[in-house]
Amino acid sequence: MLLIEILPDKCDFCGCCVGVCPEDAIELKEAEITIIEELCTNCVKCVWSCPIEVLKFNKNLAKANNENRI
Ligand code: SF4
Ligand code: SF4
Repeated sequence: MLLIEILPDKCDFCGCCVGVCPEDAIELKEAEITIIEELCTNCVKCVWSCPIEVLKFNKNLAKANNENRI
């Protein structure tokens, strides 16, 4: 389950997050950024790399996902 949220209206397409992703899970094409769910491990490296907080870790979704596993 993808736990990283993108606020696309804020992104300036600098590419920082693409460079830090160890799984090559982030695609930056023209004026659109996408995370490939099948590749993403939710490591949050991209979240920390973004200088303008476009990427966020969705804590509520993570919590709900953990509760569903119990
Ligand atoms: S959370 Fe990690 S694996 Fe997923 S897109 Fe960000 S850097 Fe890549
Ligand atoms: S680091 Fe942030 S601003 Fe730069 S491309 Fe990624 S999401 Fe967009």
